[in-house]
Amino acid sequence: MTAVALQRTVEEPGPAPVASGYLTIDLAALARNYRALSSRVAPARAAGVVKADAYGLGAKLVAPVLYREGCRHFFVALFREAEALRSILPDDARIFVLNGLLPGDETACADLGIVPVLNSPEQVERWSAAAARRGVRLPAVLQVDTGMSRLGIAPAEWPAARALLETTDTLDLLFVMSHLASADDPESPQNSDQQAEMRRAVAAFPGIDLCFANSGGIFLGRDFHGALVRPGIALYGGAPTAGAANPMEPVVRLDIAVVQTRTVPAGTRVGYSASHVTDRTTRLATLAAGYADGLPRSLGNRGAVYYDGIRLPIVGRVSMDSVIVDISALPENALRLGSLVEVIGPHQTLEDIARDAGTIAYEILTGLGSRYERRYR
Ligand SMILES: *Cc1c(COP(=O)(O)O)cnc(C)c1O
Repeated sequence: MTAVALQRTVEEPGPAPVASGYLTIDLAALARNYRALSSRVAPARAAGVVKADAYGLGAKLVAPVLYREGCRHFFVALFREAEALRSILPDDARIFVLNGLLPGDETACADLGIVPVLNSPEQVERWSAAAARRGVRLPAVLQVDTGMSRLGIAPAEWPAARALLETTDTLDLLFVMSHLASADDPESPQNSDQQAEMRRAVAAFPGIDLCFANSGGIFLGRDFHGALVRPGIALYGGAPTAGAANPMEPVVRLDIAVVQTRTVPAGTRVGYSASHVTDRTTRLATLAAGYADGLPRSLGNRGAVYYDGIRLPIVGRVSMDSVIVDISALPENALRLGSLVEVIGPHQTLEDIARDAGTIAYEILTGLGSRYERRYR
C-alpha cells in the first residue's frame, strides 16, 4: 500500500512552477520597428542604440536581431558595454561609445576596433596620439554640442578641434554627431536652434557625414536625419513623439503573478503607513513585484494593472517586492495564486504606466529589473 501511494505521488505532475512575473520581449516586433525606421529614413541609414543593455531588454539578443535586419552601427554609452557587444557582433558591425574616450581605454578600444565618440579636443588629441603610436589611422566620431550642454565639443572649442585635426592625419572621422534635447516635442523651438547650430558645425568640420536624430528626431523630418540616425526607444516600442499616436509596434509585455488574495471590510488599512484605507468591503490581491522590480514607488495609490481588460487600481504604497491592487471589479475567484495580471500589454502601454508614475517610458524600461522570467519571441 505504501509503495503504491508513494508511486502515485511521484507520477502525479505537480502544478507548473510559477515565476513572479514574465517579461515577454517580441524580437519580431523589434525587427519590424527597425525595418520601419530604416525605410522612413532611407537613403540615410539607421543605427541601433543598445546602451543600458538595450534599454533593459537584453543587448545580447537585441543586437544580433538588428544586425540581421541590416543594422551595422551600434551605439552604447560605456566602453564596457562596447567590449561586451564586440564578441557578439560580426566584425563589420561598428560599435560606438557615446560617453567618450576615458583615459586608459585607448589600447583596448583600438585593439577591439571600437569607435570612440570624441567629446573634447583633449579626447581628439589622446585618440590621435594612440593612432600615431600604433602607426595606423583610427576611426572616430566627433560629437559637437549644439545646445544641450551634456556631451560634445562646445562651439568655442570647434576651432581648436579643427586645428588639431588639420595637424594630424591619424583619425578617420566617420561622423560629426550631435544630440537633440527636445526632439520628442515637434513644437519646441530648441529643435530649429540645434539644427542651425548643426549647420555651423558642418561648416566648421566640412566633408564629414552627419549623425543627428534620435527616435524623436527621425519624426521631425528629413532635415534632421543626416547620413545616420540613432533610434533607441522607438526600436523598443516607445513613442518617439510625446503625446502623439505611437507609430511603433509594442515590443514589451509584462505580467506579474498574484501571491495572495483577501476580502477586507470597510475601514481596513492597506500597505505601508496605511496610505489607503478601504471605504467599503474590498477584495484585494497582492502581486509579486515591487519597486525592486522597477514598479516605481510613485505608482502607489495612482497606477493600475489589468486583468481581462478590467482595470485594477493599485491601493496603498508599492513595497519592495510586492504591490496590492483592488480586485473588487472582478468576478469572485477570478484570480488565484499564480494568476497573471497585465502591467504592460494590450490594455496598458509603456507610456500609460510611465505617465501614472510621473516618469518616462525610458525609465520604466531600463528599470525593469532582473527577477522576472524573460521570454523572447
Ligand atoms: C540614448 C541616445 C540616443 C537614443 O535616443 P532615443 O530617444 O531613445 O531614440 C541617441 N543618441 C544619443 C546621444 C543618446 O544618448
